[in-house]
Amino acid sequence: MAEISRLSASDEGFDRQLEALMSWESISDRQVQDTVDTILAAVRDRGDQALLDYTIRFDGWEPEQATDLEIPSARLEQAWQGLPASQRQALTLAAGRIRDYAEHQKLAGWSYREPDGTLLGQQVTPLDRVGLYVPGGKAAYPSSVLMNAIPAKVAGVPELIMVVPTPGGDVNELVLAAAHIAGVTRAFAIGGAQAVAALAYGTALVPPVDKIVGPGNIFVATAKRAVFGRVGIDMIAGPSEILILCDGQTDPDWIAMDLFSQAEHDEDAQAILVAWDPDYLDRVAASIERLLPTMERHAIIAKALKARGALILVRDLDEAVALANRVAPEHLELSVADPQPLAARIRHAGAIFLGRHTAEAVGDYCAGPNHVLPTSRTARFSSPLGVYDFQKRSSLIMASPQGAATLGQTAAVLARGEGLTAHARSAEYRGVAGADVERPA
Ligand code: NAD
Repeated sequence: MAEISRLSASDEGFDRQLEALMSWESISDRQVQDTVDTILAAVRDRGDQALLDYTIRFDGWEPEQATDLEIPSARLEQAWQGLPASQRQALTLAAGRIRDYAEHQKLAGWSYREPDGTLLGQQVTPLDRVGLYVPGGKAAYPSSVLMNAIPAKVAGVPELIMVVPTPGGDVNELVLAAAHIAGVTRAFAIGGAQAVAALAYGTALVPPVDKIVGPGNIFVATAKRAVFGRVGIDMIAGPSEILILCDGQTDPDWIAMDLFSQAEHDEDAQAILVAWDPDYLDRVAASIERLLPTMERHAIIAKALKARGALILVRDLDEAVALANRVAPEHLELSVADPQPLAARIRHAGAIFLGRHTAEAVGDYCAGPNHVLPTSRTARFSSPLGVYDFQKRSSLIMASPQGAATLGQTAAVLARGEGLTAHARSAEYRGVAGADVERPA
């Protein structure tokens, strides 16, 4: 029998129940931290030899030498050529749509001139070299290759280094083919914390990168957090989440399947339905009961629904919106007749899926927007992965002679107030007033 909590927002104790439902701490395991620290230190000290050792130990295959860890570009192309036409077509279509969407996100530089001729602005440049972690331990994720690599290419990043573990030495053809069409520069058959270390510190074989993006298991996430500062990272991704807000008019089977589609990711995934019609919650519960045994991954779904799923009854639409904003879910479906005015009231969500016909699953693969989204309530302060994550901004300041005089005076007053005389004189020298500045012989 399918188990999923039934909660009511008007119950005393609901706040506590909700907090318990949402709590998930990804990186709290001391043992994992110690393992990762050891791996990072080993790769730093012993480079490629450590990569070889850990690959043999964790991925169960025996490369003879470090160069065997590189997947040649020709191999990526061969994988692409070897795919059935239907898969080539689907990857091409998805890649095209992700690229089109990403083009809209590109930040441009800007500048303006002040009346005295001083110019101020912002210059935008791409990162030089980015590392892309593609998880591959338990399953393969070609869609993750496209979602991580294409925005980097659109930003203009010249070098994209992909790492992917190959358990038993088996490479996934779809992943390699996706890397080929996404424009990956070099690819390595390494994974886990050792791959993150190689990207962060560099080895003889693997070049060091400036930022590491892409999801992974707890070893990968812990390693990314540890190397942050030396390199940039995109985010620390937690388990997938969906919150569906429904007016009670959508086919309950559709809603049940949308809840399953997140729950099947992993046992820690979260799936929540919020509605204000108790009968509708009963109908969705019945759909869950009937459909769950038909699912290939029913064991994972059942565990996720039991541990972190809920059907929540609210008083009305306003309470539903407040709850959605409080949960700040990774994926939010607004399964209502008129979703656009409602979307305008949502302040915290990674991606918003509008209307009954928009299944979250299309967003995972091919709608266009990125599927790498903030989880664990981090949508309160962060955004989906995008082109802007691969671009940096530099400030531009060009003082005119007149601007140098006026700004110099202001800067000097503030600098002297801070006791920084060199700052004060440096600013004054360049101004028209600079003539009067004391210049010891
Ligand atoms: P993975 O590539 O993240 O991890 C495999 C690696 O883990 C191995 O190569 C090994 O080096 C390391 N490892 C395994 N056991 C170890 C141990 N005992 N000690 C040290 N290292 C060890 O692949 P995975 O395990 O299949 O995990 C993939 C994760 O990525 C899942 O949690 C999945 O939910 C997540 N994911 C998220 C998204 C997203 O967009 N948020 C997309 C795809 C996948």
